[in-house]
Amino acid sequence: MQEDFFDKLEEVEDIERKINELRREIERHNLLYYQKTAPEISDFEYDRMVKELEQLEAEYPQYRQEISPTVKVSSDLTGEGQVRPHLERMYSLDNAYSLEEVQAFFAKIALEEGAYPQVVLEHKLDGFSINLFYENGQLQYATTRGNGFEGEDVTTNVRTIACIPQKIDFRGRVEIRGEIFFPVAEFARMNAEREENGDNLFANPRNAAAGTIKLKDSALVAERKLTAFFYATGLLEGEEIATQMELLKFLQDNGFPVNPESRLVSDFAGMEAYCDKWDEQRFTLPWEIDGIVIKINERKLQEKLGYTAKSPKWAIAYKFKAVEKETELLAVDFQVGRTGAVTPRATLAPVQLAGTTVTHATLHNADEIRRLDLHLGDIVTVIKSGEIIPKVTGVRAEKRKTGAKAVLFPENCPVCGTELHREVEGAIYYCNNIDCPAQVHRRLTHFASREAVDIEGLGEKLVEQLIDNGLIKRIEDIYSLDFAAVAALERQAAKSVENLKAAIEKSKLQKFSKLLFGFGIRHVGDKTAKVLVQHFGNIEAFTSATVDDFLEVEEVGEKIALSLVEFFANEKNRAMIHSLEEAGVVLRQEETLLGTKLAGKTFLVTGTLENYSRQQIKSAIEAEGGRILSSVSKNLDYLVVGENPGSKVKKAEKLENVKIIGEQEIEEMLK
Ligand code: AMP
Ligand code: ZN
Repeated sequence: MQEDFFDKLEEVEDIERKINELRREIERHNLLYYQKTAPEISDFEYDRMVKELEQLEAEYPQYRQEISPTVKVSSDLTGEGQVRPHLERMYSLDNAYSLEEVQAFFAKIALEEGAYPQVVLEHKLDGFSINLFYENGQLQYATTRGNGFEGEDVTTNVRTIACIPQKIDFRGRVEIRGEIFFPVAEFARMNAEREENGDNLFANPRNAAAGTIKLKDSALVAERKLTAFFYATGLLEGEEIATQMELLKFLQDNGFPVNPESRLVSDFAGMEAYCDKWDEQRFTLPWEIDGIVIKINERKLQEKLGYTAKSPKWAIAYKFKAVEKETELLAVDFQVGRTGAVTPRATLAPVQLAGTTVTHATLHNADEIRRLDLHLGDIVTVIKSGEIIPKVTGVRAEKRKTGAKAVLFPENCPVCGTELHREVEGAIYYCNNIDCPAQVHRRLTHFASREAVDIEGLGEKLVEQLIDNGLIKRIEDIYSLDFAAVAALERQAAKSVENLKAAIEKSKLQKFSKLLFGFGIRHVGDKTAKVLVQHFGNIEAFTSATVDDFLEVEEVGEKIALSLVEFFANEKNRAMIHSLEEAGVVLRQEETLLGTKLAGKTFLVTGTLENYSRQQIKSAIEAEGGRILSSVSKNLDYLVVGENPGSKVKKAEKLENVKIIGEQEIEEMLK
C-alpha cells in the first residue's frame, strides 16, 4: 500500500519532469528554427515532440500552461527588426500525420453539420509565411508571422521579390498572406554556389527562405530568386468573399501568384486521392511541399467553427512522412575545396530515397561529426534535406558493432598534410597552405573561368596538364607562361597555343572586380567583389585596408572582413599581386563607367523612400560615384532619411560631419 503510493508519486513526478523537459526542448528547437534558422532536428522529429507534449497535457491537465509551446505560435521575432502589429492575427495550423486523423477531423464536422463539408486542398509549401499590407492599391509594408500578433518588418527585402505586386487593383485595406519560398532549382543553385565559395550550406529551402528574408542586405535578397504563393487574407475591407475558392480567385485577379494545383472536393475519397497523389509525386514539383493543407471552403462555416489558441478549427495540415532511410556508412572522406575548406562526405551503401539512388551524403562539418558520434560501419539515417542533398541525420548507436572505428575529423590536410585551422566564429576547417595541390588546381581553374578573369581555352584539363608538367603552380605563373613548353605538350596545336596567348593577354585588361573574384578569397563571391571594388577602387586600397575599413561597406560582415585582411596580409598573396602588376595586369577599376556627381561622398539611407526601393537608391548613388556606408560614423557625409527612419537619425544628429537630407534633396543631387 505504502509502496504503491510512493510508486504513484514518483510516476507523477516523472510526468511533470517529462512535460517540463519537452517544453524546454521544444522551445530550444523553436529558437534554433525560427530565429537562428539553424535547426538541429528534422521537422518530423519536432512534430513528434509536440504531439507527445500535447498527449501528456491532455492526459494530465493539471500541468497545462498558458505559455506551453502547444498553445503558443512559435515566434520568429529576433528583436532586431522593427515590429508591427498584425491587423488580424496570423495563426498556425494543426497537423495530422495520417489520413485516419484527417478523416476523423472532418467526420466530426460532418456529424455536427449534418452534411460533409466542401473543402479546398492546397499544397503545404515549405517556406516562410509572409503578410503584405496594401492600402489604396499600394504595398505599404510586409511583415513576418512573428508571434502571430505582431511581426517583423521585412518590406525592403520583400520589394525585391519579383512576383509580389507593388500595386494592385483592389483599393481597400487588406492583409494578403502566403508563403515565400525557394524553387527547388534555385535552392540547388545557391547551395552549389555556397559550396564553391566555401560557405556553410543551407539546411533546406525553408531555412534558406527564412534566412534570406531577414538579411540586412536587400541586394543579396534580390540576387536570390525567392518566389511566393498566396492563399489567405487577414484584414479585408470592402469586399465580401464567401469561400476559399473565391478568395483564391480574388488573389489571382489582383496579380498575386496562386498555386495552380489547389482543388475543391466534397468528400473524403477526394481528399484521400489528392493527398496520396502528391505524397507520391511531390518530388516532381518545382517547389517543395511537406504536406497538404485542407481547408473548409465556406467562410460562414469557418467562422462558426472558429479557432483554438493557435490554429483555425476549420483547417488541418496533413503532413507527409519524412523520407528517411537507414543504410550503412561505408566511409567518410574529406575533400579540400578551392578556398581550402575541408568538407566531410559520407559514402553509403546505396539506398533508394525520394526517387533516386543515394550513395553519398553530406556531413556538413566537424561539429556535425562530433554531434553524430559517427563510427565506420554504423547504420545511419539519411534524409534528402531540401530533397536535393542527402544528409546524414542520425546514427543507430545501438546497432554498432563492437570495435567499430570512430570517424575523426583530420587535424591535418588530407592532401598536403598542413595543420588545419578553424575559422574564427565558424565551423569550417581550412588548409591554409596556398600551394596545397588540392587547392591549386581548383583555384587556377576558378581564376581562368568565365565568371572570373575569363581566359578562354584555359579549362580544367589544360590547367591539370600545365600543373602536372610543372609549368604553373600559382595564379601569377599564368602571366609568365613558357609558351614554347606549352606547344611541346601533347595534344597542343600551334593554333591553340596562339589563341591561349591572346586570351591571356586580353585577360590583363579584365575588370578589376572579376580579378578580385578570381583570387578566390573566402566568402568573397562575385557580387561582393563588385561592391568591394566600387568602394576601394584599386589594389593599394585593398592591401592597406583594415578590418574596420572593410566593415564600412554595408554588404561586408565580420567574416568577410577578416577573410579579406587575412588574404591581403599573406606574403604569398602580396607576391602574387606584385607579379601581376609587373606583368601589366590592371588592378584598378576603370572610373569612366561611373558618373562623378557624388564622387568621394559617402551616404547612408534610413527609412522608406517614396520613389526608390533601398536597392534603387543605392544603385543610383553608386552610379554617380558615391559610396554607401553601413553605419553612422565620422566618415559619413550624408544621411538620407525617409519614412519611419530608425535610430540612425539620432546618432547622426550628434555628429557634425553628417548632413541629414531628405528624398528630394538626394534627387536634386543626382540630377
Ligand atoms: P506551422 O508552420 O506548422 O505553424 O504551419 C502553419 C504554416 O504553414 C502557416 O503559417 C503557413 O506559413 C504555412 N503554409 C504553407 N502552405 C500553406 C497553405 N496552403 N495554407 C496555409 N498555410 C500554409
Ligand atoms: Zn592542403
